[in-house]
Amino acid sequence: MTTTPEEMLVALEPWIAKHRRTAWFPDVLDNDATSTGSAFSGIPLLLKGEDWPTCKSCGNPMESMLQLDLKALPTDRYGTDILQLFYCVADDTCEGGWEPFSDQTSLCRIIRAKDTQPATTNLNRFPTKTIGGWTAMEDSPSSAEHERLGLKFDYHFKDVPFQPMEFWCPELGLHFVGPKFINFLEANVGATHLDKLGGWPHWIQGSEYPACPKCGTEMSLLMQIGSEDNVPFNFGDCGIGHVTQCPKHQDVVAFGWACS
Ligand SMILES: [Zn+2]
Ligand SMILES: [Zn+2]
Repeated sequence: MTTTPEEMLVALEPWIAKHRRTAWFPDVLDNDATSTGSAFSGIPLLLKGEDWPTCKSCGNPMESMLQLDLKALPTDRYGTDILQLFYCVADDTCEGGWEPFSDQTSLCRIIRAKDTQPATTNLNRFPTKTIGGWTAMEDSPSSAEHERLGLKFDYHFKDVPFQPMEFWCPELGLHFVGPKFINFLEANVGATHLDKLGGWPHWIQGSEYPACPKCGTEMSLLMQIGSEDNVPFNFGDCGIGHVTQCPKHQDVVAFGWACS
């Protein structure tokens, strides 16, 4: 019988290793807004003849919050085109941008480089941060996903509401009783809340993967954008945003965020 939370983590390592994913932190450079590659608030590529996208709610130009040249990433899993996220930061009464596919106060899309040209003016409000490279890190699933990945929790609701009291890892034949184990698990096995490419989403209100409108497949994380990390913006109250992509349709992307 395992007696300490540290020993619990060692015993659980095969399960943790199975779900470990590589994610990448963006290495950003503060520079002039001249980039047409990967950047936060860089001068974006626009479709030929297209005006800078505006918010359908307030009419202001939306921020080019993120542009990624997908062929220049450290992984090829997201395709070879250009990912863009425009998002309204002009008016805090513009609501609804939290919902994937809402497209009122945001525009999340994949475009082909050959169809584009750089915008001729910079209508961003935030300073450009060009993404000059990526630093790999190991990421683990958010505690909101531990149950669906095979851990079983028991809550003892009658005695202590909302605090799990014991958990099992059936595939390893492990069972731990007491909140100290669960708190240690949550503190040590989770997804980083910082901006990152790939890895596991840091969920605030439970797992919220959108479904692809074309095929119904659960979409997966492409890029996480946290409040006030590389983008000087607060999604609600310290919320975290997620750009997701259908693993079968690389042109289907969405942006949503949640806060506590
Ligand atoms: Zn707006
Ligand atoms: Zn799909």
